[in-house]
Order: sequence, then C-alpha cells, then structure tokens
Amino acid sequence: MATSGQKVVLITGCSSGIGLRIAVTLAEDEKKRYHVIATMRDLKKKDKLLEAAGDAYGETLTLLPLDVCSDESVKQCVNNVKDRHVDILINNAGVGLLGPVESISIEEMKRVFETNFFGVVRMIKEVMPDMKKRRSGHIVVMSSVMGLQGVVFNDVYTASKFAMEGFCESMAVQLMKFNIRLSMIEPGPVHTEFETKMMEDVAKMEYPGVDADTVRYFKDVYLPSSIDIFEAMGQTPDDIAKCTKKVIESNSPRFRNLTNSLYTPIVALKYADETGGLSVNTFYNLLFNFGPLMHITMSILKCLTCSCLRRRTVSPN
Ligand code: NDP
Repeated sequence: MATSGQKVVLITGCSSGIGLRIAVTLAEDEKKRYHVIATMRDLKKKDKLLEAAGDAYGETLTLLPLDVCSDESVKQCVNNVKDRHVDILINNAGVGLLGPVESISIEEMKRVFETNFFGVVRMIKEVMPDMKKRRSGHIVVMSSVMGLQGVVFNDVYTASKFAMEGFCESMAVQLMKFNIRLSMIEPGPVHTEFETKMMEDVAKMEYPGVDADTVRYFKDVYLPSSIDIFEAMGQTPDDIAKCTKKVIESNSPRFRNLTNSLYTPIVALKYADETGGLSVNTFYNLLFNFGPLMHITMSILKCLTCSCLRRRTVSPN
C-alpha cells in the first residue's frame, strides 16, 4: 500500500519491454517517491518483472491483472486500487502489426486499434473522473515516432498511434483546466519483444491476395532497411524508462517527448512542407532509390551513435 507522500503510479503492459522497465525504475526510486501498480493481462508472466524488481516487490511495487481490451478488467483493476486513487497513469500496453495491408484481415486491424487506441481511451475514461475531482494527475501515453510520421508497411499500427495522438492532443486542453497533465512519449525503435514478435509474425506470413511485386518490396527492400534502422538507431527499454521518469518528474511536463533526437529531422520534414510532398518523396527515395546508400548511412550511424556519443531529445541522463 502507498505510504503518505508517495505517488501512486499505475502502468499497463508490464510483463515485458518498456512497461517492465518503467515499473522497476520507478519502484527503485532512491527516495521511494512512488508506489507502482504494475499490471499485466496474464499474471503467469509475472516472473521476469518480479525478478527485475527484487526487494521492491511488496514494498514499492504491487501487481494487478489488467487487460486493456476489457471494460470489466479495467474497472476491476481500478476498483482494486485504494480509494481508486491513481496519481500517474502510464498507458504503455501496445501491439504491433507489420506487412502489406492486402494480407491483413480487418479483424487483425481491429485488434490493434482495440489495444493501442481503445485500450488507452478505456484507461483514461476510468481514472480521469477521480483525477478531475482531485484537480490533479498526470496521464502518460506511450506513443511512437509512428504516431507522428507514417511508415511504409506499418500502415495500421501507425494509424492506431495517430488516432491516439489526435485523441490526446484534444484531451490535453480540457485536462489542463483540471490541472491534469497529459504527456506523450514518442520513441523510435526500441529493442524489446515487440520487434521479436513482429519478426516472428512476418516469418509466418503467407501474403494471401498480395501481388508478387509488393511482396518483393516488403521482404527484400523494406525488411532489410528496417533491420538496419533498428540496429543503428535502436534504444533500450531502460533509455525509455529514464526518459519517462524525467517527464513525470518535471515541474512543467512537455506534451510531446521524442526520446531519440535522430528522429527530429524526420518528423520536421512533415512540417517543413505543407503539401506533404517533401516527406512522401523523401521516404520514397530513401526506400526505393537510395537503398544501398541508406544501408551505408545506417552503418555509419551505428558507429556514430554508440552510447558515448549519442545525444537525445529527452536525454535519459
Ligand atoms: P512488448 O511487446 O515487450 O510489450 C508490450 C506489452 O503490452 C506486453 O506487456 C503485453 O503483454 C502488453 N499488452 C498487449 N496487449 C495487452 C492488453 N490487451 N492488455 C494489457 N497488456 C497488453 O513491447 P514494447 O515494450 O516495445 O511496447 C510497449 C509500448 O511501446 C507499446 O505501446 C508500443 O507501441 C510502444 N513502442 C514500442 C517501440 C519499439 O520499437 N519497441 C517503439 C515505439 C513505441 P503480453 O505479454 O500479455 O502480450
């Protein structure tokens, strides 16, 4: 149970990756300022979190089951929090989806929106009324660079993150009136199971209804570039956890928080040309015309961005 003065932080999707790291980082805060409620949809997956949390489990970290796709689970989870009092809600749970749209069923697309968009909306709807009454709170949403810039063959995942960005951008104004802060964390690639799960899904893909050229562009052009980008620009879950901690500890937390400054110019392209031509043409050329050049650039970047040289927009340190 939280002691007086401790902030109650509820985090979704803590069985692995970024959510697990945020939970442990906050629970291990030296001044013990946080009581972390780490949630996951299947408590059988708790071992990795408990191992990482060590002595913090039972002290500054407790566990609750929560499936963000279920109204009932969301309600039950928040009802199980003492006085339903959540100071900081971190919406981290998310799923990816990669591949040519022709091969993806509408049901699969809905599953992504159900988690990445409606999952966040469900959580906000459940905690917001109490935050409004108390005139305090901070809602953090794990978005992505893909919530700001479309990426080829990530069409549906990108759309789910764009939807969330639009929802949050609209909500932030109203919430400010109630002294509730809303912050988006926008990582580029991060080395987690997310990447592994997507690559496993891709390996199983059969591409029904997709023409041979599109399959070739996806497998032989997009995938190798994507792997290069992950290797050159990928951050660790720990980087994202440190950035998130910094955001929640700021006196005036920013709404948008890119975690990787290497992405700033990519996002800026979109705003530099209101017709959209600059970003669409740049991405087209990078993928289809300058593939080998991009490979070399990424290899150079990989050397330049080793941890001693890399600087980030929201520096984890
Ligand atoms: P992981 O796959 O490691 O973690 C995702 C977490 O979300 C898991 O704990 C998973 O639980 C959970 N989850 C999925 N569906 C639900 C659900 N219905 N209810 C509750 N929990 C659920 O990936 P990451 O840590 O990388 O992803 C975390 C967030 O970061 C996501 O929102 C993702 O979009 C975002 N992000 C990731 C990037 C990356 O490159 N990795 C880049 C930018 C943003 P379970 O184990 O049960 O499946």
